[in-house]
Amino acid sequence: MSDMSDISGLDALPPLSRVIRDHGLAARKSLGQNFLLDMNLTARIAHLAGDLTGCDVLEVGPGPGGLTRALLAAGARRVVAVEKDARCLPALADIAAACPDRLRVIHGDALGHSLPEGLTPPVRVVANLPYNIGTELLIRWLTPEHWPPFWQSLTLMFQKEVAERITAGPGGKAYGRLAVLAQWRCEARMVLTLPPGAFSPPPKVHSAVVHLVRRDRPLFPAAPDVLSQVVRVAFNQRRKMLRTALKSLSPKIGEHLIAAGLAPTDRAEQVSVEGFCALARTLSAE
Ligand code: SAM
Repeated sequence: MSDMSDISGLDALPPLSRVIRDHGLAARKSLGQNFLLDMNLTARIAHLAGDLTGCDVLEVGPGPGGLTRALLAAGARRVVAVEKDARCLPALADIAAACPDRLRVIHGDALGHSLPEGLTPPVRVVANLPYNIGTELLIRWLTPEHWPPFWQSLTLMFQKEVAERITAGPGGKAYGRLAVLAQWRCEARMVLTLPPGAFSPPPKVHSAVVHLVRRDRPLFPAAPDVLSQVVRVAFNQRRKMLRTALKSLSPKIGEHLIAAGLAPTDRAEQVSVEGFCALARTLSAE
């Protein structure tokens, strides 16, 4: 647990609206800047990330630092925050000064850092992500070279429609590649939905927080590269029957589908994660 001097240091910081005004942090659309200014809300998101005491936290896009403050107040051992916008650095330096040795800010592009330095396991990732890079970052975190990855859990804000695509089950329009990849390796739940008015400035769409807890072993065995390819090809032509959509994968695709317990006439969105893994296994054995 953080000691009381750290908490009182955070309490002494000015309100976020003043930080934004004093540091001239007018939101830039190109950087996906929709800030959370309500500290009750940032505290709630930090709480949804699980017990942070004894954990390092990676935060992408701290901006003026509302969520960063909440993560530190919730007892994170250390927060490493990657921010692209240099204008935010002085505000983040004030937070670092209020919590000596517990906040490291890296000025840079999160897409350029595969694993920022200074993180010691266990690590949780918590972020109100810029919407333009959220899906790409999630896919990177879900598909590292080695599993288990560097993180225990991901607690991430997305556009609600993307959050639905991560957590959807088979049978609907939202179910696709993102759901299969995420649920194969994680337990994924939508834990909070937020209206546009929760942000400043308000985005055009609703948002949602997804909490993903890694499975130490994937749900069903499959070679990650084969599964990834099968799922990509299957959902590229999601309205077609599997035997047609997947025919580029093998001349004997019909036999593979049957061996995997799938109907060649099914469509991708009817296939469970288990079904895709079974198909990846029979294709790997060809
Ligand atoms: N965490 C803050 C909050 O909740 O109020 C800000 C969230 S805002 C949605 C996204 C933040 O990500 C902005 O501060 C933006 O500057 C930053 N950002 C945008 N693109 C980035 C990138 N490629 N790498 C790191 N940070 C980025």
